[in-house]
Amino acid sequence: MSAAVHYTVTPSDPHAHQFTVDLVVTDPDPAGQRLTLPAWIPGSYLIREFAKNIIRIAAFDDHGDVPLTKLGKDTWAAAPARGALRVRIVVYAWDLSVRMAHLDQNHGYFNGTSLFLRVHGKEGEPHSVTVQPGAAPAVQDWTVHTTLPRTSGGDHAYGDFLAADYDEVLDHPFEMGTPQVVSFEACGVPHEMVFTGRVDADLDRIARDVKVICETILEFWGGPAPMERYLFQTMVVGKGYGGLEHRASTSLICQREDLPRVGDDRISPGYRQFLGLCSHEYFHTWNVKRIKPARFTPYDLNTEGHTTLLWAFEGITSYYDDLMLLRSGAIPESDYLELLGKSATRVFRSPGRHLQSLADSSFDAWTKFYRQDENAINAIVSYYTKGALVALALDLRIRRDTGGRHSLDDVMRTLWERHGKTGVGVPEDGIETVAGEVSGLDLTEFFDQAIRGTDDLPFSSLLEDFGVRFGRRGSEKNGDPGGTPPKHKGPTRGWLGADGAAVPGGTKLIRTFAGGPAQQAGLSAGDVIIAVDGIRATGSAVDDLGKRVPGTQAEVHAFRRDELMRFTVTLGDAPLDRVWLEPLEDAAPEAVARREAWLRSASGTARAAEADGSTTEDAKRGAWLR
Ligand code: ZN
Repeated sequence: MSAAVHYTVTPSDPHAHQFTVDLVVTDPDPAGQRLTLPAWIPGSYLIREFAKNIIRIAAFDDHGDVPLTKLGKDTWAAAPARGALRVRIVVYAWDLSVRMAHLDQNHGYFNGTSLFLRVHGKEGEPHSVTVQPGAAPAVQDWTVHTTLPRTSGGDHAYGDFLAADYDEVLDHPFEMGTPQVVSFEACGVPHEMVFTGRVDADLDRIARDVKVICETILEFWGGPAPMERYLFQTMVVGKGYGGLEHRASTSLICQREDLPRVGDDRISPGYRQFLGLCSHEYFHTWNVKRIKPARFTPYDLNTEGHTTLLWAFEGITSYYDDLMLLRSGAIPESDYLELLGKSATRVFRSPGRHLQSLADSSFDAWTKFYRQDENAINAIVSYYTKGALVALALDLRIRRDTGGRHSLDDVMRTLWERHGKTGVGVPEDGIETVAGEVSGLDLTEFFDQAIRGTDDLPFSSLLEDFGVRFGRRGSEKNGDPGGTPPKHKGPTRGWLGADGAAVPGGTKLIRTFAGGPAQQAGLSAGDVIIAVDGIRATGSAVDDLGKRVPGTQAEVHAFRRDELMRFTVTLGDAPLDRVWLEPLEDAAPEAVARREAWLRSASGTARAAEADGSTTEDAKRGAWLR
């Protein structure tokens, strides 16, 4: 049975990367039906103009063709139809990201934002979807994976699906093909992981590891779980990384070599990153999919939605993603502190943090963070990394100044009660209000500095109160990610003030740092260094120059486009922008106790369950399932 709005999706021409989508509106607007395709997808704040991929569109009713008038880049008006209106679009799908659609003879993937036209006036009505194979031979034995509720067809079969409204039909991406599948239960909720692409990994181990992370996050928020089931859709590629959150699933892209092979029980840096990505997207099931800015309730998917709160939705989520790896036991404390140091390094090495506030970074995500150029590091600050550091500082402030009675965990759970469970959007000052209320502290000055200011927060003294050293050192090599104590012995290294990459014939500068020696000498991003002091340069010119002591000069020859230029660079002292954290050996006992409570915090729900003795498996399950 079809809803008021029904879409039939056919992977009609895998070789030409074309989906055919047949839309039926049973009761169209008698004055003529307007139809619009979204221009952006929630969670990814860039206008992407999905309508550019519609390569054919035509409308019909029971009597024949219905004229369509194009009103703008993504909107059409159909002439009044006699009876039901049918619209057929053919969509080009060759974007291998988590944001659009992709189709070939190996698999099909789509987000509703790429295929489902919005039927004006019907947004609040049920929307149904049929996914059918069509005639292409390659697609006949495919399985279908989505969390959109199914109304026909067996598990993983082609069939029919139903959403309560347009917003929901957009929020359950589909994956189809012949992927590898592994499933598990977390707190009684069925979870499935689907891996597309050539992959030879220990999927049972991955499922075991991810299950514990999911349970840790479920317990953090407390039952019942907001979703009836959950799906991790993973596209495995040679090179790539990314994720996008949805209300009951996530789409991920990861590198083949990051996944562990059978018999390998180490946590490699790549696998740690994959688990962190799973943790991040899963945490979003609460923080941004349900606790969301008032500005996004509802979404307007055809123009930019400006909010100053992305730091809270991405930054706080980024703070908890690695913390949940630690709390679930997936990584040891030393790994966690290293990850935190690397994350802090990304903030502290960016001169842009003194120009742009977190509120502005959030607001301008559309034109700045999502459209970064070679000068981004000098001009903007990331609401992910600085947002995560602010979340850390807020958590530590609340823990310290309430004597351990409260934490950011309590703030998040109150946001969940007040905004997540109710669907009431978070006003622009909502995070600050709840943090103040829950902690009983006056945090006005803290937020003014952290969110609206551009000065560094006092991490050194804050972490010292938790028995952790906030160490800072200079870069020891080109692209040094920080996170580890100084290793360099010998004379002080010189600093060029630029990042470089090896290219044929020399080193290409990726970026120059504001006010640094390279920029002062006139070198620019894009310049290719071909000689230093008359000697041919290699691909490691940045590191080679670093071997000279600060204050020495070097004559640099570089091509800018096809023009050879000469520069005299005076090497500087590397700024202390690489951060590392480690436990302080001589920390006071109360600082050590604070650190233990911070890093090993059990969730309130788990504590409550232990207290009243209801820890049997059945009792746990009953609390989690809706
Ligand atoms: Zn995120």
